[in-house]
Amino acid sequence: MKKQMLVALMLLFSAFATQAQNHEQNLRTIFDEALTNGQSYPMLEYLSLNIGHRLSGSPSAAAAVEYTRQQMEAYGFDKVYLQEVMVPHWVRGQKEIGRIVNSKFGSQDVSVIALGNSVGTGPEGLLAEVIEVQSLDELEKLGKKNIEGKIVFFNRPMDPKHIHTGHAYGGAGDQRVKGPSEAAKYGAVGAINRSLTLAQNDTPHTGTLIYEEGVTQIPAVAISTVGADYLSRTIKANKAMKFYMETHCEMLPDVLSYNVIGELTGSEKPDEYIVVGGHLDSWDVGDGSHDDGAGCVQAIEAVRVFKATGIRPKRTLRAVMFMNEENGLRGGKEYARVAKEKGEKHIAALESDSGGFTPRGFGIKSSPEVLTKIQSWGDLLAPYDLRKIVKGYGGADINPLEDQGPALIGLMPDSQRYFDYHHTADDTFDKVNKRELELGAASMAALIYLIDQEGL
Ligand SMILES: [Zn+2]
Repeated sequence: MKKQMLVALMLLFSAFATQAQNHEQNLRTIFDEALTNGQSYPMLEYLSLNIGHRLSGSPSAAAAVEYTRQQMEAYGFDKVYLQEVMVPHWVRGQKEIGRIVNSKFGSQDVSVIALGNSVGTGPEGLLAEVIEVQSLDELEKLGKKNIEGKIVFFNRPMDPKHIHTGHAYGGAGDQRVKGPSEAAKYGAVGAINRSLTLAQNDTPHTGTLIYEEGVTQIPAVAISTVGADYLSRTIKANKAMKFYMETHCEMLPDVLSYNVIGELTGSEKPDEYIVVGGHLDSWDVGDGSHDDGAGCVQAIEAVRVFKATGIRPKRTLRAVMFMNEENGLRGGKEYARVAKEKGEKHIAALESDSGGFTPRGFGIKSSPEVLTKIQSWGDLLAPYDLRKIVKGYGGADINPLEDQGPALIGLMPDSQRYFDYHHTADDTFDKVNKRELELGAASMAALIYLIDQEGL
């Protein structure tokens, strides 16, 4: 080898080594800031305890828009603005009633909660026989003659064999989302869904249903897992038993709401965007601390630490509070529509919407080359226990960006307790651990730092 060539190679190698060292130091700086001067926890405290749950179209959702806008301004982001989006305005009304009647064991109230977007029964309620099924396919086998005039009870549990509970949720979710319309096609008059959780308790879990156009809209509730097991036993013991449900929910006309966006402008490539986000709306029970108050404050924090530490991004970092993930996804869709219209180049979008638990790594939906590139940073992320950098799912709100080509990335926290709280009155601030929340925010900042510096 010629001497000049050797020198050139050595210089190149030492440049790489210096860069890696810079990255190492900057990641340390990012974590130090988030763990010693972190703002995610006090922000979540305010969002959860002072504002509370944030169902789309509610006054508290409007308050959350204003609060997060003010916070990002207070932290000195370069640009903070609202993006208009029309959202559904569904209201629950007074508390639901679920009652097993005409049973051998007498009448028994069970814990139910209306599914989001469901029509209500109104004050007269609904009384009917119940038929239990384990899947949507079973409806077809049973046919109209067995289903007409009855309430269909979807009772397939989440599969506990999955290690990642999100997979178990995904595997059972069709019953809630599509079940009511599928049942209505066979003449069902109502639907009861086993709550989507692995917990065995008396707390029912809400969540959205989607009515199919042109199909009769029937009222639907979720029943707690303990209630579901009890109902199932009761049906087996007494086929003639009936179920009374009373819900007062209704869908009002759409209202104007907003995605909240805060930016740090890139110093070298300001026209390339890296999005980091969560969804600002929540269900109307509990205060939505894990789902997804945590993701929102982590997204703001992930950008704030750049500002606070003086690490100047090359590309534009954008924290986005998406509105209406839970019962419409209007915010995510509108964000993607506007990005396309403006021809904005998004290179990556990172969402935190799996709870504020201990971060384990990232799930990535991208080309194999991009996945490999992100995985090549494994040694830099491993000291922070971010060891899972795997092919996976980004997030509901960033998914509409897919055809514009960015890597879609989801923060992957430990998933074991998420579905204990998800969509319930138990999803409250006291369930969030300060340190776990902060580690998640720092992890997001760390990854967007590497994407910003290295490109994809
Ligand atoms: Zn969520």
